[in-house]
Amino acid sequence: MSKAILTIDDVASKNTPAIVDYLCEKKIKAVLFAVGENVEKYFDEAVYTLQKGMVIGNHSYSHKAFGKLSLAEGIAEIEKNEKVLERLYKKAGVKRAVKVFRFPYGDKGGENREALQAYLRGQGFQKLADTQITSLWYEENGLHEDVDTFWTFDFGEWQIREGSAFTADSVFARIHDKNPEYGDVLLQEGSHHILLFHAHDETQAQLPEYHRLFLDHLLACGVEFEEPQFSPAYQEKEKLRQALFVLKNWTVELCRRAGKKEGYAESFFQGLCESEGLLREFAYYHDTRGFLCEKKVAGYSIADIMVWQVDHFKAYLDRGNECLRYDSAGLLLAAFSIMMEMEKNPALYVEKMKRESGTDTPD
Ligand SMILES: [Zn+2]
Repeated sequence: MSKAILTIDDVASKNTPAIVDYLCEKKIKAVLFAVGENVEKYFDEAVYTLQKGMVIGNHSYSHKAFGKLSLAEGIAEIEKNEKVLERLYKKAGVKRAVKVFRFPYGDKGGENREALQAYLRGQGFQKLADTQITSLWYEENGLHEDVDTFWTFDFGEWQIREGSAFTADSVFARIHDKNPEYGDVLLQEGSHHILLFHAHDETQAQLPEYHRLFLDHLLACGVEFEEPQFSPAYQEKEKLRQALFVLKNWTVELCRRAGKKEGYAESFFQGLCESEGLLREFAYYHDTRGFLCEKKVAGYSIADIMVWQVDHFKAYLDRGNECLRYDSAGLLLAAFSIMMEMEKNPALYVEKMKRESGTDTPD
């Protein structure tokens, strides 16, 4: 009826191998988010987890709320744990196929939220494939946009402590809640969730085998556990996003050098993105300083237009007319602008090019 990806936080603990054995027994693949300090304390347990085929992700070194840290402190928390995890994967003899991150308490760092996302992306952290997630709450909060791994359902079982009013029954009530305070209903036909569970010895002390109790219950309710995927399509999209970011900055720089008015870069880049094939020509020029010339309008390539532009430029020189503004950045921008215009009205430009350069139309 419903599908779920299981994530388990605050690894490692004394209890971790027992949880891992249970997961293997039930053929559930999970992502376990590790706290550096805990891994140092329970290193063998963490090694065991990796050797049993689970993914271990970064959950910071000492589990502080990122909203209370400076950007530099937050990054230091991530990096310190990265070092621990590298050592761990090496010791386990397991290749680290994917780097994933989860913020302690789901606290995304307050005013540093965007900078932390950029940092994680820049460091090659990957996003859990979440396009199947049905939760509206997840989307409404922009969680699908971020690279860190959030969740759509929290068992809350970590609140089972000595003297706490939160008990196993509270967890069952959550599982069957038809009107949850936040998030979406778990047991609903066609729903697709990311579950948050913990590996805490304190919970084990209060409720032995709690993982078996709750996870067996979900299985009995017909929940199907899915293997977490790290979507290649998503990674491609990310790469494209970064490439566009670089090209856009370069456009702004070219426009600045060519002395273009404010706003020109924006509309120029927009035009490139809307054209079929011109963005590719522009990217090729950015990367190689050469012309790809796959794109043609009325038989003309971008190089043909550049040549025409240079002729045009000479004509200006001959006339002693404002030649200074025709720098190389300006020429390049003009060539691409002309091609964008040509796409809209080829006949007009073919006529113009023949008339003003005196050359024949290409075959
Ligand atoms: Zn945690």
